[in-house]
Amino acid sequence: MAALEIEARDSSSYARAGRLHTAHGDVRTPAFVPLATKATVKGLLPSEVEAFGYDMVLANTFHLLLNPGPDLIDQFGGLHRFMAWERPIITDSGGFQVFSMGHGTVADEIKGRSPHGEAAKRAGAILSIEEQGVRFRSYIDGRERLLTPEGSMSVQAALKSDIALVFDECTPFHVERDYTARSTERTHRWLERCLSWHREHGPAEQLVYGIVQGGVFEDLRRESASVVAASACDGIAIGGSLGAEKEQMYEVVRFAVEELSGEAHGRPRHLLGIGEVDDLIRGVELGIDTFDCAMPTRLGRHGSALVPDPQTRWRIDLTKSSCRQADEPLIDGCPCPACSQGFSRAYLSYLTRAKELTGMRLLTAHNLTFIAALMSELRTAIIAGRLAEVTSALRAGAPLPLRPPQGV
Ligand SMILES: [Zn+2]
Repeated sequence: MAALEIEARDSSSYARAGRLHTAHGDVRTPAFVPLATKATVKGLLPSEVEAFGYDMVLANTFHLLLNPGPDLIDQFGGLHRFMAWERPIITDSGGFQVFSMGHGTVADEIKGRSPHGEAAKRAGAILSIEEQGVRFRSYIDGRERLLTPEGSMSVQAALKSDIALVFDECTPFHVERDYTARSTERTHRWLERCLSWHREHGPAEQLVYGIVQGGVFEDLRRESASVVAASACDGIAIGGSLGAEKEQMYEVVRFAVEELSGEAHGRPRHLLGIGEVDDLIRGVELGIDTFDCAMPTRLGRHGSALVPDPQTRWRIDLTKSSCRQADEPLIDGCPCPACSQGFSRAYLSYLTRAKELTGMRLLTAHNLTFIAALMSELRTAIIAGRLAEVTSALRAGAPLPLRPPQGV
């Protein structure tokens, strides 16, 4: 059976709605995948993440490799039992993290900042990039480590995630075309090594996604997408730096999607690290099935709440003085714990400024409820044949139908 069962397609875009079948159940698509980077969605219980409407979370191979280590998780039979989440889990390969140590974060790059604080401590920790893999210094104990394509797959096999991602080099967008071309070719060789390791040793029920690289260069992206599409991977992820501006990012995603024809067209597609509200809407129109991003959870921990207002980039900053005395919920009628239990913006603002854990928890819960409602609205619209109408209303700031999670 194909991993993705497509239930409906939109006639005016590349969008599709479906069900992604995994060993731990189905993921209704299009879907957002919250980050459980270190085997926890920060501040929330698995039962809460599920109640907000999420089918799958994403855990991070690189962090879990360093701490607590794959052997311990393996003793528990894998990540599901270890973190008490019995639904689908996708693990990234560690490629992005290992390379962001050397290049700073993608956000730093987009905003033209040089790494500082934590990022500066991590910067330069890549010792060398070789054909064999990447040599780096652990941020936990300073030891030199080597992460190879086979090593990443073996860690993901021990974690027993439902979906593993192949190990890739995440090239930053400021590098020369020549470097991007050579790096993308190496990523393709690593793809074959990951697939062949998995064929021999990987859990049979684990799906493996290849990763399209190629930077912002149209020919390299298209070439990479066709190489990944021609491989034996179960799904296709689009990674790397997609550009400095949103329009460029959308173009780069379109180049990749357009190359996925024939049998590859029906394979699930994941867009790595993208999750702002307008990007999710456009990503769905571009035919992406699943997305992951730190945005909604990280914003919540730093005092911002998502609201249906494109003029403010869909968010309010509760640390601003305008919120300090506001006796109103974040969104009227929102079923999340922050809005439904009577907490005012003033109280949430106070908790945020006082750095209270309850504030972080409530805002994370609100933001994940908002994103789940957005994805459910997009999915429902595709199935009902109303996507164009719904996306134009959302882009104009229409309120989301916020309802308690239900099985669409
Ligand atoms: Zn809410």
